[in-house]
Amino acid sequence: MTFLFSKPLPDELAKSHLYRICAMNNIRVSRLLAKETKNQCPKHCNHPWTWIYTHHIMSYLSDMTPQAYRAHHTQMPLMNKWYKVYSLDAVKESTTCVYDYPQFHHHSIASTYDSKICSDCRTEDLRAFSMTYWHREHQIPGLDICPKHQTPLAKFEDDYTYYAPNPVDIEGRISDKALVMANFHPVIMRYQDIALLTLRNPKLVRFEQAHDELLSRAMDLGVCRSQTRHTGQSYIENHIGQVLYENLPRAWMAEHFSTDFLNTAFYPHEMASEEYHTKLDRLKYVGGAEPIFILLALAALFESTNDICSILFEPAADIALPQR
Ligand SMILES: [Zn+2]
Repeated sequence: MTFLFSKPLPDELAKSHLYRICAMNNIRVSRLLAKETKNQCPKHCNHPWTWIYTHHIMSYLSDMTPQAYRAHHTQMPLMNKWYKVYSLDAVKESTTCVYDYPQFHHHSIASTYDSKICSDCRTEDLRAFSMTYWHREHQIPGLDICPKHQTPLAKFEDDYTYYAPNPVDIEGRISDKALVMANFHPVIMRYQDIALLTLRNPKLVRFEQAHDELLSRAMDLGVCRSQTRHTGQSYIENHIGQVLYENLPRAWMAEHFSTDFLNTAFYPHEMASEEYHTKLDRLKYVGGAEPIFILLALAALFESTNDICSILFEPAADIALPQR
């Protein structure tokens, strides 16, 4: 039987591209894709043709390099292993989550309903491609409205990308008004803009340099302070978390961090062990924090998207700001 294949659509999420191809070929478990395409393994292939390298296989079948496939169809530029996007060595899915999307907190509502769709984009896709699909840019963590249409995104549990790789007529959970409004808060808008620009320009992103500048800015503002222990050892006292807890809309924090924030009197204790609090605390070490936390902190401590772009991208002149 001939194996059916179609290349990924513009900004199509790698995960739903994979599920779409599996559905077209009646492959029920995506791990079996490698077996079904064994005869297409190229001679120059430098890794085994197994499920551990599924995205390599998908990129080969798409006529793309694995680097371009990771850069244009995954959320890897926003994840812990962002530096592997352009890796020349084979990237194993058993050690690097190529198909996942990052979240601010694994036990948040956002993390349960992490697959999102814009109904306006869906209508446009139906006209342009005679089908619909899951866009990568809609899955940015902390985003509840479409970056293009500014309309609320419908939200689904993760496995919908498997059951509906062509999500033409499914209805998801719609955010309430307070959460939609929160997406227009200046810090949240700046965060969403720079996260979107990071996905669109992964080659130009300089996380270490931006993190360095973030810490100097935090020091200037008195948000981070250099302290000395009685042993003579110095350390950094970091209050970036407090800045976010005090300034970001509660509805947004409740969705993406924890429902605890629905209580207006709630502030995590300085030594709190919540995952998001620990991750924010790691911002005091350059190289120790996840991209989405660096981006959120940049959005909170700098006042303009242009200023952030000038330290986050090189060359910044090549960056086209999102249209609003
Ligand atoms: Zn849209």
